[in-house]
Amino acid sequence: MPPVGEKSLIDQIRRRVRVGASVVSGIGDDCAVLRVPAGHQLLVTTDFTLENVHFRREWHPPKVVGWRCLTRGLSDIAAMGGKPRAAFLSIALERAVSQKWVDRFLAGLLEAAEEFRVPLAGGDTAQSVGGIQADIVVVGSVPTGTAVLRSGARPGDGIYVTGELGGSAAAIARLREGKVRAADFERHFHPVARVKVGQWLRRRWLASAMIDISDGLSTDLEHICKESGVGAEIEVAAIPRARVGRPAQQVDMDLALHGGEDYELLFTSAKKVPAKVAGIPITKIGQTTRKGGMMLAEEGGGRRKLAARGWEHFKRN
Ligand code: ADP
Ligand code: MG
Repeated sequence: MPPVGEKSLIDQIRRRVRVGASVVSGIGDDCAVLRVPAGHQLLVTTDFTLENVHFRREWHPPKVVGWRCLTRGLSDIAAMGGKPRAAFLSIALERAVSQKWVDRFLAGLLEAAEEFRVPLAGGDTAQSVGGIQADIVVVGSVPTGTAVLRSGARPGDGIYVTGELGGSAAAIARLREGKVRAADFERHFHPVARVKVGQWLRRRWLASAMIDISDGLSTDLEHICKESGVGAEIEVAAIPRARVGRPAQQVDMDLALHGGEDYELLFTSAKKVPAKVAGIPITKIGQTTRKGGMMLAEEGGGRRKLAARGWEHFKRN
């Protein structure tokens, strides 16, 4: 806990937070009181942001840690086609964490909260026995019965991704080698949850199944396959590989296939999907199959098995 102490820290957070339409009453009581629109179901997601697992203090400025912390939760709401309504932050800080670090962390988190109009409506604050641990809870909603699940894919559906892949993992690879300019690796330092795209697809019943790519394409695709009871065939050449660094270069195929934390959406559809939704390019990368398992179709016509080898944070190969 930084020098100011728990009560004063909560007061500071409270002063910096905006109330939103869904929050009847937020920080300052035993519970937040939320307004649920009639005919809606609630979505609730919770995600850890752990020092030395999801970020390193020497690699990630505090604003980035805060932004990414809320983005993890927003991205889960996006993957259900939901509208985020309120966020809750539980944070444990070791004594040595400076007030400046906490201020900037909150600034990054609240910047994302403003951008997505999701008020921070509560949380918990404690001293940790070592390091920094945060947990973000995001509450969202969808009209009853319309949440896009992982289990809805049918054989023959097209497989689609938003944006481009591998950019975040490429930054981690580069950070291991030395200094990195955040501006050259926006997809890592400033990922943007695809909330609008998710809602758009849900409203038009365009996605039969959906997931956000937090662990890597191969691993998250496997989740859809398992939940839906289908297989998948991915065309290697179709995968949109991120261009990162300076000069900008396309990331290696392995990073696009297995790199995590891009927070793009992966979805299946039996319908015609536009090339762009809410300004974000959508790419068809393959289709689901009746036969289980995941296959890669290579450019030369070869086929090989695609194993789920999602990115593991800071794993040394
Ligand atoms: P209680 O002991 O009843 O849980 P706390 O003193 O922990 O109350 O919290 C007081 C108020 O401040 C609550 O409304 C809680 O949601 C809010 N709060 C505590 N920590 C945070 C935080 N890190 N971010 C946002 N709100 C917080
Ligand atoms: Mg408490």
